[in-house]
Amino acid sequence: MISSVSSRWHALAARAIAGEPATRDDARAVLNAPAVELLTILDAAYQVRRHHWGHRVLLHVLDNAKAGACPEDCGFCSQSSRHGSPAGEAAMKSVDELVEGARRAVAAKARRYCMVTATRGPSQRELDTICEAATRIKAESGIELCASLGLLTEAKARRLRDSGVDRFNHNLETSERFYDQIVTTHSWADRVATVRIARAAGMQTCVGGIVGLGEHEDDLLDLAFALRDLDVDSVPVNFLDPRPGTPLADRPKIAPTDALRALCMFRFVHPRTDLRVAGGREVVLRSLGVMALWPANSLFTQGYLTTVGAGPAADHQMILDAGFSLELPDGAVVMPDPAAVASVPAPRKPTLPVVL
Ligand code: SF4
Repeated sequence: MISSVSSRWHALAARAIAGEPATRDDARAVLNAPAVELLTILDAAYQVRRHHWGHRVLLHVLDNAKAGACPEDCGFCSQSSRHGSPAGEAAMKSVDELVEGARRAVAAKARRYCMVTATRGPSQRELDTICEAATRIKAESGIELCASLGLLTEAKARRLRDSGVDRFNHNLETSERFYDQIVTTHSWADRVATVRIARAAGMQTCVGGIVGLGEHEDDLLDLAFALRDLDVDSVPVNFLDPRPGTPLADRPKIAPTDALRALCMFRFVHPRTDLRVAGGREVVLRSLGVMALWPANSLFTQGYLTTVGAGPAADHQMILDAGFSLELPDGAVVMPDPAAVASVPAPRKPTLPVVL
């Protein structure tokens, strides 16, 4: 006999699969579900994930093309020059270094390679470097390209698209209401405007946020539904890994079960979307990390911008152990191979610890 608990969450999944995503009340119920129902909720979220993404996992690789000395004041970020975090600045990577980074991503069987700069928006020189790297990478491999360079103008967005950048990342981080308690140097509306500029230029949009900033549950719901209103292509869900010296350094990490509830909530609100478990995966989810793949269909491998993650061999092993497969840029689906990626060299990491 199916219990009323099971039928409730599976009814939510059935509606999401039928094209009726979660309402705000549904989403709130997921965030507040008792621990005893979490496995049932994960199974229901998995039904939705499987309907749209099968057993495939998409690996993404981040490359911090220019680290540190950012003039913005995002309270969670140790790359801001305004905090007392162990600051520093790494020089912008060269085109050759970025091309090499993309080769490492291909070797790790990543679907997408994302070049990131710690800036308010890209300078002309930074844009030149990213665009030249994008053109060269596209000429030698089919890997999909993403860039995360801060605020854009229409002209800069068109240049990125014309150089081969497929997708632009610009996270909203949290709700509009809570945003000015986390960032004061630019507004939530500035970020929304850049998302729209990127889309208008013809790039896909990757827009997510961070859970655990001290937000109210309504802020998390506002974020999830704002992303739905923006009809973004990809949602990366980060969990705060408090960084020394930042204003949020003393915030406790959220519980792994709350992180899983948040991921399930995002899946029910965004049934078809490329949903990624992002920064903080290893340190927040800990032993429950593999369960993120029940709602999420993609993850970052090779670590984050300035902190190391589990690495491609461990990630391939986790995906293999759980019975999932990898989807490559050409659409081919392959089995993970921890031994084959064990020798992929680790990327050069700047010295600044950060979660993005
Ligand atoms: S999150 Fe980005 S924009 Fe904000 S301080 Fe860090 S690098 Fe700068």
